[in-house]
Amino acid sequence: MRVFRLELSSAASCVATLLLATICRSQDPAAGPTPATPTPTTAAKADLPDLGEPAALPQDAPEQLRLVTRQRLREHAYWLADDARRGRYTGSSAQREAADFVAKQFKALGLAPLGDKKTFFQTYPLESITLHASSSILLAGFDCKDFAVLPAGDGKFSAQGKVAYCGKGRADELPSALEGRVPVVVFEKQARGNGPGGDLQAIQRYGDLAKRLAKSGATCGVILLAGDPGPFGNTLNYYGLMPDHPQLSTGGGARAQPLPIPLCVLGGEPAQKALAALGIEMKDGEPIVSATDGKATAKVSLRVDRSQKGSATNVCAVLHGTSRKQEAIVYSAHHDHIGRRVDGDAFNGADDNASGTAGLLALAEAFAKGGKRPERSLIFLSVSGEELGLWGSKHYADNPTWPLDRIVANINIDMIGRAEKDGDGSKIQITPSKDHAKYSSLGRLAAQLAPKLSISFTSGDAYYERSDHYNFAVKGVPVVFLCDGEHPDYHQVTDHADALDYPRMEAVARLLCWTGWSVANEKDRPQELGKQPDW
Ligand SMILES: [Zn+2]
Repeated sequence: MRVFRLELSSAASCVATLLLATICRSQDPAAGPTPATPTPTTAAKADLPDLGEPAALPQDAPEQLRLVTRQRLREHAYWLADDARRGRYTGSSAQREAADFVAKQFKALGLAPLGDKKTFFQTYPLESITLHASSSILLAGFDCKDFAVLPAGDGKFSAQGKVAYCGKGRADELPSALEGRVPVVVFEKQARGNGPGGDLQAIQRYGDLAKRLAKSGATCGVILLAGDPGPFGNTLNYYGLMPDHPQLSTGGGARAQPLPIPLCVLGGEPAQKALAALGIEMKDGEPIVSATDGKATAKVSLRVDRSQKGSATNVCAVLHGTSRKQEAIVYSAHHDHIGRRVDGDAFNGADDNASGTAGLLALAEAFAKGGKRPERSLIFLSVSGEELGLWGSKHYADNPTWPLDRIVANINIDMIGRAEKDGDGSKIQITPSKDHAKYSSLGRLAAQLAPKLSISFTSGDAYYERSDHYNFAVKGVPVVFLCDGEHPDYHQVTDHADALDYPRMEAVARLLCWTGWSVANEKDRPQELGKQPDW
């Protein structure tokens, strides 16, 4: 699910001037033969805990539900959330690997391609601002190429001179004249910790520092992140450039206003090496400079390119229905996430949204192999660009590969792997809820089926605009979106596959399978109901 959006501006001097532009911003197993399945997933690791047997099916459940199992969901989630996927950043080779993974399975299941030119892929253009591979920093003899840049526009940039030690970058720590010098600042994790508050604080710190350094005559700044990068690292994934991590947009320029001078940020091992090369030791959270002070030199060479040639991909397939096959239900889930952090740790996005993609794949398999076809067709849409602005689903809704007026419903799956901490695991958030003006007979149907799978709904209306269903909703398509909501590991490097609750995912995915099956076979299309007193 998409985060709230923060604007990083050179003019920003206090939280009030940072625009919170949008709150956006993520049975009986023995009763039937196990069909042969394609095996494009990496095998679940042998040392994973036993998940137990899939739950018994409710009496009146469609056969398809039997194929939606906790084991299958875990296989998919582990592959997608593996460190090898490098956080599946939009438009990157890692995201394309994830898209290929999804397409291979659609193909193996015998689904028909529904992308561009009879392929499974639908590609959309992106503008990108890229840190060129030649960019480097030389700090007291330590040559570094793995760092992030908060840019001051595009083009070539270089600075060279004696290092100016600037502590933590407070106003009283800066030398009055920084002309011809390269200021080095050390940041430690700030007090507010992870989450939106910490991210806001981090952006403000970077913006304020760039302004102060520029005022003192510096033409760039080098920031070393000592210890856990925390929000200082996280914010770089939205507003910074890294060697394999451009700033992307769908047009109209950068996501953030350029800073007055570029800030280069080192984390993890490169930061530790730089601290050692510069003779800086951390004592009680304060950077202490040893005898090398005054002697070290630095050289910064940056090249920032702007290109209109970027792209990212959706994956789309259809299982044709029977008597009403001209009409379709779209199942959607985004497979991309936010990449890897400046210290190299990947944002694995297990809940966000390996869990939903695992659900989408499990549902595709269940419907493709589960026997009877539904009357209406089922479209499986695996989108990208969600985290950066719901781009893939917007592109699909604006350029549908199935007539939009014959898409009768969208069922969106984004973050279904984490049960609330103190509950019994039964609750999940739904939007539009019964309290929402866009509540529909689709939501009502899901609400009626939920108790059969021991699921209960709470309102997820706070997230109505924050995932891919929204782009269908604005086109007038009835939607339903199930989501865990935010938790401490949301958009953190700690969102790992071993923290997902697979039995609960099985129940939620089965509920969505059943809901889609029912809608696909009902005589009437789902209708908007408006706000209702009861589910
Ligand atoms: Zn997200």
